[in-house]
Amino acid sequence: MASNTTNQAADAGEPEQQTEPESALETARRQLERAAIHLDLNANVIERLKHPMKVQRVSIPLEHDDGHVEVFTGYRAQHDSVRGPFKGGMRYHPAVTEDECIGLSMWMTWKCAVMDLPFGGAKGGIVINPKSLSDGEKERLTRRFAQELRDVIGPMHDIPAPDMGTDARAMSWFMDAYSMLEGETTPGVVTGKPPVIGGSYGREDAPGRSVAIIAREACDYYGYPLEETTVAVQGFGSVGANAAHLLDEWGAAVVAVSDVNGAAYDPSGLEIDSIPTHEEEPEAVTKYADETISNEELVELAVDMLIPAAVGNVLTEDNAGDVRADIIVEGANGPTTFAADAIFEERNVPVIPDILANAGGVTVSYFEWLQDINRRAWQLERVNEELEREMLTAWEAVREEVNTREISWRDAAYVVALSRLAKAHEARGLWP
Ligand code: GLU
Repeated sequence: MASNTTNQAADAGEPEQQTEPESALETARRQLERAAIHLDLNANVIERLKHPMKVQRVSIPLEHDDGHVEVFTGYRAQHDSVRGPFKGGMRYHPAVTEDECIGLSMWMTWKCAVMDLPFGGAKGGIVINPKSLSDGEKERLTRRFAQELRDVIGPMHDIPAPDMGTDARAMSWFMDAYSMLEGETTPGVVTGKPPVIGGSYGREDAPGRSVAIIAREACDYYGYPLEETTVAVQGFGSVGANAAHLLDEWGAAVVAVSDVNGAAYDPSGLEIDSIPTHEEEPEAVTKYADETISNEELVELAVDMLIPAAVGNVLTEDNAGDVRADIIVEGANGPTTFAADAIFEERNVPVIPDILANAGGVTVSYFEWLQDINRRAWQLERVNEELEREMLTAWEAVREEVNTREISWRDAAYVVALSRLAKAHEARGLWP
């Protein structure tokens, strides 16, 4: 299975093609139905949550550097906004589909609700391989995408962010295009921008930081002292690399990290700082490693904790039985298929879900949005302190459901999210 220098969880990166054993929409719908069983929820609310409120499909003509024009397809799926404006990333990836955007937009709704953020869920993307584009082409594509989406987005309506294949630079172009069209500087239309134009300090590291915080709490919960815990991280993009660095700093032994070419492996713990980050040298994880293994081998290492932080659908019914980690913390969005989840549950391997673990990205996006609409920047210390607090609050809420209902972490996270969403839907009602 392909790994990647980035992640699906949040933000910048280099996508890789892979076969999809299950579409994100299928997984998201199955997870919803399954979790709904644990709650005495209004069936009408569940019915509404199975469908996106709106899906915008656009054609984006791009003039390549050599002058020829190619038309690409883009989407923005807006799932639910009962708790606030739509929120979620935009990915540039050849495997983007309408269904994938819808599935990922559903996950954003649950993610924002688990974190108790006043946002709903959205996701968008363009069917394109960003690696094939020059910077100029990427800029023209992003500006035109902003123009095409202009009617359905806005700082109080739908706020995009980085995801696979997009980064702070793309967010700058997007913000600039929207602002120029509106005739006023509108930083709050998008998050994940550079701080110099209203981005938040700490936003880029936030998804990896939240994965590390949740991994730390999971170790504590299951009685693994961090200094004695071995961790394998699939993916060395912003999520994987930041999570690996923090866990290393906090004393864990990170024994394997990988990118699309394979994994660096040292059973006694890697020197994480010596591995080039994506910014320093893309896809160079294996280049300086003494011992390398494949991504397939990484996933099956006998470690205490596995963090899949690359692409979706890496843990499937084909390999779930061979995973030897005691705990799984999802860094990517949707790394575990529905079928694999069932196997892990049967094998008593806890899977801490993406909608909790990597939610630091959208949480700091929320902080960024607050800074933008209030026109007041926060210091990095404040961002990290508030992120820590929000993560611990969400962890406690989910842990409580795990303990009282004796259900999986994913079901518990859904229970927390769905109860909040259902209450909001019931309070607001169906109109007209
Ligand atoms: N793309 C990120 C995610 O999947 C962040 C979304 C956001 O910040 O709005 O959580």
